[in-house]
Amino acid sequence: MKRYRRGLELLLVAVAAILVFLACSRVSPGTEDDGSDGGATIAPSVTPAEVTPTAELTPDPTATPTPRNTPTPVDDFVPPVKKGSKYADVDGQKGTLNERDYFRTAPGRNQRRIYRLEYRTKVVILNTVKSEFNEIWYKVAIVIDGQTEYGYVQASSVDLGTTPTPTPAKTGPTNIGQGDTTLRHGPDRDGDGIYVVTLDPGHGGAFTGAAHYGSIEKNMNLAVAIACKEYLEENYENVVVYLTRSGDQSIDPVSDVDDLEQRVHVADDYQSDIMVSLHFDADGGKYRGAEGLVPKGELNAKSMALSSLILQNLEKLGINNLGNRKRRSERSRYSYPDGEYMDGYLINRLAAEKGIVNCIIEHAQMDNESDFNDFCSTPEKLKKLGIADAIGIATYLDLKKK
Ligand SMILES: [Zn+2]
Repeated sequence: MKRYRRGLELLLVAVAAILVFLACSRVSPGTEDDGSDGGATIAPSVTPAEVTPTAELTPDPTATPTPRNTPTPVDDFVPPVKKGSKYADVDGQKGTLNERDYFRTAPGRNQRRIYRLEYRTKVVILNTVKSEFNEIWYKVAIVIDGQTEYGYVQASSVDLGTTPTPTPAKTGPTNIGQGDTTLRHGPDRDGDGIYVVTLDPGHGGAFTGAAHYGSIEKNMNLAVAIACKEYLEENYENVVVYLTRSGDQSIDPVSDVDDLEQRVHVADDYQSDIMVSLHFDADGGKYRGAEGLVPKGELNAKSMALSSLILQNLEKLGINNLGNRKRRSERSRYSYPDGEYMDGYLINRLAAEKGIVNCIIEHAQMDNESDFNDFCSTPEKLKKLGIADAIGIATYLDLKKK
């Protein structure tokens, strides 16, 4: 009996020990992942504890990343480009923008921009005011998305609407600018009866210009220039055409700025009557078309007439005509003593200072797929551009056909 009781006591102790053991293993961290295997629970270095965290550390590709704060500096904020479609319904003289420009809260190029207005935006002039630099500005009304809005644009950016007088049937050559033939170039500069044209194929050598779809701008510019020169000299009398470069080299190999300066020196040395710089634009691929860049100041009207004639001939090939633009330097150190800003484009400014009527032609947007394929992709297409330039130049100079 005594032996029996003792055996029972041992059994109870054993059962208790097992219960304690089981209770302990249930709290142990490995248990839940590992199911019922007690051995695995005791050995902490076994797989489950390692596999799980690895999965957690790998970033979930479907998770949305935390958005980063990219604050827009207030001064640089320009709302999306919107186009004034029709004249605002208010009284005042009508005008259209002769270049892309900004619509501002107050007169002055240092004033806040409200919208960037596209070339040919229609405005109604409500008032003429002066900026702090004595520039003439207009308070205007424009239509943006059907709403009339008020603001300021610089007067020189606005062509005044002409009163709708019946146009007499003209048999003469193509209209220049507003149809004003006095804008046509007068007697040639050195009075020898021969017009001198300097064509300036942009970039060259180490300065490649833009490069897209396997083409390099410097080569395209040269191809257009050569075609233009050949067409002018073969088809018209009393014209001589020089190129600032006839091969793949820069004019000044060291600095881009000096290079531009040298190009104008070349044109001036030849006593050029006009200078046309030939380029292709690449503005992010959004736009399509050709654009003329012209100087401000005294030579603006003539240069714009020249540029417009070239653009009109490019338009005949199907190229979108983006019109002319004169870029002002927005930095005050580039302003004239009267506060008027100088030309932003060095070629425009330096050639105008030499008295040379000039423009820069951006023939098409070479980073826009359809512009590139339609107008830039083969030597034949580039030649057509050069011929269009030549016809525009010949019309401007009123050259006689051979
Ligand atoms: Zn260029």
